Amino acid sequence: MPERKDSESRKLLRRLRETLAAPGGGQHRLDQITHHIADSMGTEVCSIYLFRDPETLELCATEGLKPEAVHKTRLRLGEGLVGRVARTGRHVNTADAPGEPGFRYMPETGEEVFSSFLGVPIQRVGERLGVLVVQSRSARQFSEDEVYGLEVVAMVLAEMAELGAFLGSQADSLHHFPIMFRGTTGQEGTAEGHVWLHEPRVVITNPVADDPLKEKARLNEAVAMLRTTVDSLLAAADMGSGDSAEVMETYRMFAHSRSWLRRMEEAIDLGLSAEAAVEKEQSQARARLESAADPYLRDRLHDLDDLSNRLLRILTGQGRDTGAEMPEDPILVARNIGPAELLDYGRRLKGVVLEEGSVGSHAAIVARALAIPLVIHAERITSEALNGDLILVDGDMGTVHLRPEETVTKAFRDKMAMQAEAQQRYAGLRDLPATSTCGTTIQLYMNAGLMADLPSLESSGAEGVGLFRTELQFLTRTKVPRRGELAALYAHVLDNAHGKPVMFRTLDIGSDKVLPYMKPQDEPNPAMGWRAIRVGLDKRGVLRMQLQALIRAAIGQPLHVMFPFITEMNEFEEAHKLLMEQLAREQRLGHALPSDIRVGAMLETPSMAFAPKKFFEMCDFISVGGNDLKQFFFAADRENEMVRRRYDTLNTSFITLLEQIVQRCDEARVPVSFCGEDAGRPIEAVTFAALGFRRLSMRPASIGPVKHLIRRVNLSELKRVIDDARAAGEINLRRPVTEWLARQ
Ligand code: PEP
Ligand code: MG
Repeated sequence: MPERKDSESRKLLRRLRETLAAPGGGQHRLDQITHHIADSMGTEVCSIYLFRDPETLELCATEGLKPEAVHKTRLRLGEGLVGRVARTGRHVNTADAPGEPGFRYMPETGEEVFSSFLGVPIQRVGERLGVLVVQSRSARQFSEDEVYGLEVVAMVLAEMAELGAFLGSQADSLHHFPIMFRGTTGQEGTAEGHVWLHEPRVVITNPVADDPLKEKARLNEAVAMLRTTVDSLLAAADMGSGDSAEVMETYRMFAHSRSWLRRMEEAIDLGLSAEAAVEKEQSQARARLESAADPYLRDRLHDLDDLSNRLLRILTGQGRDTGAEMPEDPILVARNIGPAELLDYGRRLKGVVLEEGSVGSHAAIVARALAIPLVIHAERITSEALNGDLILVDGDMGTVHLRPEETVTKAFRDKMAMQAEAQQRYAGLRDLPATSTCGTTIQLYMNAGLMADLPSLESSGAEGVGLFRTELQFLTRTKVPRRGELAALYAHVLDNAHGKPVMFRTLDIGSDKVLPYMKPQDEPNPAMGWRAIRVGLDKRGVLRMQLQALIRAAIGQPLHVMFPFITEMNEFEEAHKLLMEQLAREQRLGHALPSDIRVGAMLETPSMAFAPKKFFEMCDFISVGGNDLKQFFFAADRENEMVRRRYDTLNTSFITLLEQIVQRCDEARVPVSFCGEDAGRPIEAVTFAALGFRRLSMRPASIGPVKHLIRRVNLSELKRVIDDARAAGEINLRRPVTEWLARQ
């Protein structure tokens, strides 16, 4: 960077800082700033456009364009050159603006006489605030140094906005207007609360610095510290070899990157403080991240983002613990969160909103277990939300309202009140049986996976735990849990079940559930890969240990064990044999045994509907894992948003498959239950009951609504409706079933 440019840039930044320090309103400051920038850059025009709402930019200050256009000229995101800079997060530099594709002529500004145009985004780590533009009459391309210099200025403007320098101006409203996010349902339910950011934003109070040598020394010291931390972190993780080691090595390489450090030092030379220089690099990486399609590149940019965050925390001394008080009704907002971290927050949270995540992610599993609404894929929410903002989470619709208008809040509260009223009604049914009007009683069980779930056994009126997902204890640890630890935990579960049966499902990992300490298998299609009982039978040590823990937990009482993802009869035979061997071993060791052992299989692949009769006879009980069964029946990935909802559970073919499963179980006199998510949806649940399922296992919150509906219908009549619709050639039973239900 040439020396003359450096000092010119520093002079400009110093003037900006003086503007910030001087008294005056926000608008006055913005006016002064455009004046200083035009002067320093030697251009006739300098304008600042800020977002009025997430889709609209407004000209908020200008030097050189017609003053009457200020607060009048507006552009949609993506419209004109300014809109393009805002949408892409990248600069536009052209000597012939009117000749540029997408140029939009705005007569009120008088800008047609200006030929050259340089626009850079005003952004702060992914949060777009607006666009800074300089224009001049002469048709010239701005130099790389000028582009870089203007980006540095824009960076300082973004920091000034964050510090409230433009209060009273348009920029003031940045974190004030209501925004709605359309995400994806991770867990149903609704909640109103206040934002609690998992990773609070680092506040930079000194974007501009006078002494570049001092700033570089601070930066180098912080980078050295970062490198030491990263090195020891990786040494402790001891990834061995393979893909994960390679990924970690790339992370380390980034931390040691010379060019990263050099780019930050260049920004310091232009007048930024060390932390503002880090943020400038981070902002640009974020902008690239948003447009990068290559997943490998995206991961690397994420690494860089993560490292920048760590570096900022070192430089500013602001840790996660910023001293802010968690609100009484916290709604956690995060880019993503691990299952252990989410468990740490526990039931204190009213809801969770994530920018990333997936329906089957560990965080989603934990949120489900904690029964708190979760919305995922709420893009950009971490940049928009501030700690303490009012936020409404609608897990049913997958939407989030941040800083909502009063009318929205009111409608939302009405919806919550109606739900609460319904819950009250359901609470009244707690001790009543789910008996239909034709006299058939359906047993309603609940699904669980955490100790925290067990109080629901009492409050929901569930008759037992139909599915205890044991993988959560494995997923939330950094190494394989020990047998004694697991035995104690399972014993605690049984104690808290107070004699109600608990069906423990052995470890169901693989597919979407990857243990942090297991070497990830790079499988082309993990859902159809090495998972569940396949892992258990190939790596018997862990399964054996888990079975021993279960046996020891249930001394003197009945034990129910079920094996997941049985696809062929012999898998069940082998797993069953393994369990019997462990029992014999315990006996040999002179240990007391459970009073009774019932061994079940989860029927989760269509193959098992056609299994030999002997399979059904061998099982003490069968549980249909509808989530997996449906994904394999329709060949539609349950994790893939593009196809996840494409096929209806009440599709006639699927219903016919379920009916056949019930018939085969009935023939073998083996009890069958349904424990996928669909069991908790009232219409699906009554349909299953009409098909002959006598036990359904669901989220505790669904027990009330399902019981309420079962008690109102005649299942034999419903079965006739289903049969008639099928005979009439309906490909989907939802319409006939709902129409009939509406008449009841
Ligand atoms: C299922 O597949 O329906 C099931 C209950 O198991 P999971 O959702 O844990 O795969
Ligand atoms: Mg399953």
